[in-house]
Amino acid sequence: MQQETQQETQQKVQKISILGATGSIGKSTIDVITRHPERFSVFALTANTNIELLLQQSLICSPEYVVIADPQLFQHAKKLFAEQKLSCEVLAGHEALLQVASAEDVDIVMAAIVGGAGLLPTLAAVNAGKKVLLANKESLVMSGELFIQAANQHHAQLLPIDSEHNAIFQCLPKDFKYGELCSSGISKILLTGSGGPFLNKPLSELHQVTPDQACAHPNWDMGRKISVDSATMMNKGLEFIEARWLFGLKACDIEVVLHPQSIIHSMVQYLDGSVLAQMGNPDMRTPIAHALAYPQRIESGVAPLDFKQLADFSFTEPESARYPNLDLAMQASNAGQYATTTLNAANEVAVDAFLSGQLGFMQIAQVNEECLQRTLNHNLGNIEAVLECDRRARSLSANIIDSLCRSNNRKVGS
Ligand code: NAD
Ligand code: MG
Repeated sequence: MQQETQQETQQKVQKISILGATGSIGKSTIDVITRHPERFSVFALTANTNIELLLQQSLICSPEYVVIADPQLFQHAKKLFAEQKLSCEVLAGHEALLQVASAEDVDIVMAAIVGGAGLLPTLAAVNAGKKVLLANKESLVMSGELFIQAANQHHAQLLPIDSEHNAIFQCLPKDFKYGELCSSGISKILLTGSGGPFLNKPLSELHQVTPDQACAHPNWDMGRKISVDSATMMNKGLEFIEARWLFGLKACDIEVVLHPQSIIHSMVQYLDGSVLAQMGNPDMRTPIAHALAYPQRIESGVAPLDFKQLADFSFTEPESARYPNLDLAMQASNAGQYATTTLNAANEVAVDAFLSGQLGFMQIAQVNEECLQRTLNHNLGNIEAVLECDRRARSLSANIIDSLCRSNNRKVGS
């Protein structure tokens, strides 16, 4: 009897590949799974370039494989891992990312690479029918319908990690059918956002904010790209598109509400007037733990909410003039796949240019808008077409940024 229980426990150990292990979501995932060694073991950890952190994480998690995405770092990584006598196999490059995302032994894939670079590895996990914990919202923004079709075709289980989508998922009825709000008794989805670090900054000062100011989010500790996206509210725009694909929503089904305290992570409003909200301290370990153990609940390390300490609990509407990227994303979502793929690519290039000091904060939206205006509607019927659209938008936005930089320099010089 005891043996049987032990066997049952052993069978429950789930092997996980963490794509983007060295990032903010990757680190939080490792924090949660190391609290539950009886449930999870690490199949693979991946990073772009940060070998040192990957090595430290491997000493803690003992993965079977590690992948360094940049192939030029392969020999260096191999040497460092051999010096530590780590038994894991060191792999490098794009193909290796796809392999550890889709390997037969893997049960769960945490898709936490940032940006468009996450699309193909995440899709590899989906095509292999894995349980996919989706943090990489950009992959859904870039390839929405194809992505959802692939998940259905290969019976992948998609679980949202984005705190808002995870909250919505938690508040939906158990028998919710994709896209069927009314027959599920739902009137609206309320997508909450904090408004970022510049919620109350005078509009006239926004053009001069620095990358460090933009990355200093008041509530969340995140990677630099998503932090800038939160400051411009492009993040909420990407999440609007993500929510449409994840739950089959129409644009009019979603209302964006500012909630600066980030305690409510989103809400579902029902026809009878009830509103279900998911709440918690702003810490990504909660949605990560929820998705890892779903449908069970496990401890995440997040402190419980103390309602007596919550001084304020407020809600407002986002201002268009402050957050032009939010409107652009909603327009792109209505225009179709070519537009959201283009916007995502333009935004990545523009955010990079802002972070490297080439572009002003408010110019991010300018680049995105011009890139969208200069891209004609075309059909993206397969992943090759998505990737081609992404490449073109990146090159177009780089050109737009070049001319903006020349005019920035002329202004400085004059
Ligand atoms: P991050 O910048 O902290 O980490 C990114 C990870 O991706 C790192 O491990 C990095 O090595 C890897 N990476 C970067 N470029 C790569 C490339 N070209 N090839 C392979 N790997 C590459 O980012 P993050 O904040 O952890 O965000 C990761 C994803 O999760 C993003 O899509 C983001 O939108 C989403 N997300 C993050 C949060 C959060 O709280 N951080 C919340 C919701 C959603
Ligand atoms: Mg979010």
